[in-house]
Amino acid sequence: MERLGPIENHRSREEGVLVYPVYSRRSQGLSMGINLFPNHKLCSFDCPYCEVFPFKQAAPFSLELMEKQLHAELSRAQKQGIRVKDICFSGNGEPSLSPYFFAALDSAGRIRDGAVPDAALVLITNGTGLLNHQTFQGLGQAASGPKALHIWLKLDAGTEAWYTLMARSSVPFARLISTIKEFAACAPVTIQTMLCAIQGKPPPQEEARAWEGLVVELAGIRARAASRTGERSPGIQDIQFYGKARPAPEDPLATALAPAYLEERAASLKAALERSPLPQIRKAIPIRVFP
Ligand code: SF4
Repeated sequence: MERLGPIENHRSREEGVLVYPVYSRRSQGLSMGINLFPNHKLCSFDCPYCEVFPFKQAAPFSLELMEKQLHAELSRAQKQGIRVKDICFSGNGEPSLSPYFFAALDSAGRIRDGAVPDAALVLITNGTGLLNHQTFQGLGQAASGPKALHIWLKLDAGTEAWYTLMARSSVPFARLISTIKEFAACAPVTIQTMLCAIQGKPPPQEEARAWEGLVVELAGIRARAASRTGERSPGIQDIQFYGKARPAPEDPLATALAPAYLEERAASLKAALERSPLPQIRKAIPIRVFP
């Protein structure tokens, strides 16, 4: 399993910037973050490891300003000879809950095509936007095609008990999981899972087993779809385990686990996928670890 380096820095988000270039360990290069919430956090989760800090300014989001800042940051990176790996919607909340999300996505896609056509377009999401039918449909469409949106979908828990600790959300666990399964059956997704301790305790054994079972089930969706449609077919494309690497305002509720724990969970998942009776699953879904 691959192990990657430095930690990104995105503190300028709390100062109201809409586009923030960061070195992203998960993108393995320069990522242009897009922040749809410059003056307040808007999220359906309240993760104890959340890195959103108190805000320092009150100006709301503006599509025009986002476009201007994106052009400027891409141009600056190009002048410095730095390759932009992706343009990534994340930052200060759940991007798909913003009323500007789809307009901003269209706009970023057009700017990407003109300025950095090789860069990926990425959405980091907790998946709760999928409970809205229009968002589900819109993301499904955006995720298809050769220059499609890459959807990095949070899946921090396999049991309701751990979900309650990790998400502290009013969104029912069962409903969210069934919607994620439905979405993975029609669109490609990257699964991203935060592994941390809560009040000093790592995920219990039953949680680790349940999460693994859920991912194997989701991988089965990919295998069945792949046999029909080929490249970048629906289902899990890759899996990212990541650890708590940066401070969060609610420290010390969530704390980092030893890198060895993350490696063990990744190795256990790999073995579980290899035991699958479905040959397409056994052919390996990339698993990456970012302690
Ligand atoms: S989903 Fe993201 S923005 Fe929302 S609370 Fe969790 S870490 Fe913070």
